[in-house]
Amino acid sequence: MSIPAAAEKKSVLISGGSIAGPACAFWLNKYGFKTTVVERWPELRPGGQSIDVAHYGLEAIKRMNLQSELEARFTGEKGTTITDLHNVPYMSLPVGHGPTNETEILRGDFADMLYQQTKQTTDWRFGDYVTSIQEAEEGQQGKVKVGFKSGKEEEYDYLIIAEGARSWTRKLVTKEEAEVKYKPIGCYIAYFSIPFTPSTPYQDQWHIINLPHQRAIYFRPDFKNQTQRAGVMFMTPESKGYEKLSATEQKEIIKDIYKDGGENAKRMLEHIDQSDDLYFEYLVQVHADRWSTKSGRIYVVGDSAWCGTPMIGMGCSLSVAGAYILSGELAKHINDPKKAAEEYERLWRPTVTEAQKLPPGIPRILFQESDWGVKVYLNIMTVAGWIFGSRIVQYIIPYLSSGWTKMFPSEESKMLPEYGEYIVNGDGTNKDADR
Ligand SMILES: Cc1cc2nc3c(=O)[nH]c(=O)nc-3n(C[C@H](O)[C@H](O)[C@H](O)COP(=O)(O)OP(=O)(O)OC[C@H]3O[C@@H](n4cnc5c(N)ncnc54)[C@H](O)[C@@H]3O)c2cc1C
Repeated sequence: MSIPAAAEKKSVLISGGSIAGPACAFWLNKYGFKTTVVERWPELRPGGQSIDVAHYGLEAIKRMNLQSELEARFTGEKGTTITDLHNVPYMSLPVGHGPTNETEILRGDFADMLYQQTKQTTDWRFGDYVTSIQEAEEGQQGKVKVGFKSGKEEEYDYLIIAEGARSWTRKLVTKEEAEVKYKPIGCYIAYFSIPFTPSTPYQDQWHIINLPHQRAIYFRPDFKNQTQRAGVMFMTPESKGYEKLSATEQKEIIKDIYKDGGENAKRMLEHIDQSDDLYFEYLVQVHADRWSTKSGRIYVVGDSAWCGTPMIGMGCSLSVAGAYILSGELAKHINDPKKAAEEYERLWRPTVTEAQKLPPGIPRILFQESDWGVKVYLNIMTVAGWIFGSRIVQYIIPYLSSGWTKMFPSEESKMLPEYGEYIVNGDGTNKDADR
């Protein structure tokens, strides 16, 4: 079998340095591309709560050979406890039996892991962003001309946009090719860090506090930095434009909305002004008809292409697996970018479409308006906790799940094709060429 040519140092600009961007850089470097990552923030963004890496996401991490690195960074969260605003517990479940999984890692830690893997081989540029894009006419052999805020003008063979749901560069690409539909799910989310204090309850837990007027507070432990990752979520049917405000203004809004939120809200608000990692978003799903321009030179990946919101719980897994497929297809079809674009969609869109589906009633049922509604919801959680926490259920779940796996074998590895043959040696030759 003839070995396909290596990537001949084709150049790729990746805009966005969180999860999907560096995951692309990781693989493209292995296939011999020359990669540049431009990140709008002045440094790697540390914020966010825990995310879990599962299914195809875990499979992608295994292919990266980063499983032990990932495990070393697990948060060590011991379980999940749901309380009312007076810290009375209604549901408490250990790791693996409720919302806390074995594979919890802080989003910022995950981004850092990918950064550490690429910082020697990728040209990382912080504090800059793309301001203009000019793509050669379709059919021409050509490159993508890119202008930057810093004044630089450069040419690349490919541009990959990995800027999250509200991508700005996506809007610079010709309109009909880059237009996406935003599907709001009716709620705001914010994450920021606060210190542990002697009065912090449930310190080793994912502590969820349900409040009336469709609000919740979440605390998750970050033992390494001795902080709690605070999170707030509140429903509003339409965006109020808060996401466009400055961090200082956003903090004032959180203070106002949570001022009657009990002792946990009080502790959170006492420290909010000192936090320097606030992330504040009105949650929208992104639905895009295409993930590339017709020429196959410009791509979207991760939340810029298919954001499902944290409600689907698969954002990071979709990003690392989608980045793996996009990079692999670019290497496989090195002289036919249109084919790469076609295959990226064909292989990955069915998984994304499935993952974006929210269970009926989510997120509405999680956020109750009245005190009475919150009480009913918490009692339902108590019953759910008895079921999932009961020794009998815990005993039979492993048998049920192994039976299920035998009947319906995992699709993960099928969803992730093999691209090992395109990995090149440091000298640019194909890894398999001397076999
Ligand atoms: C600070 C932060 C905290 C988060 N916390 C959580 C969380 O707790 N739970 C959860 O489920 N999800 C969280 N997310 C979202 C989660 O990271 C994504 O759902 C998922 O990992 C997809 O990653 P992504 O790389 O596609 O996009 P994102 O993670 O959104 O990253 C996009 C990156 O692009 C950068 N960027 C934006 N615009 C430009 C531009 N014009 N030029 C260059 N760079 C640009 C951003 O600064 C960011 O670093 C968080 C995202 C961020 C940025």
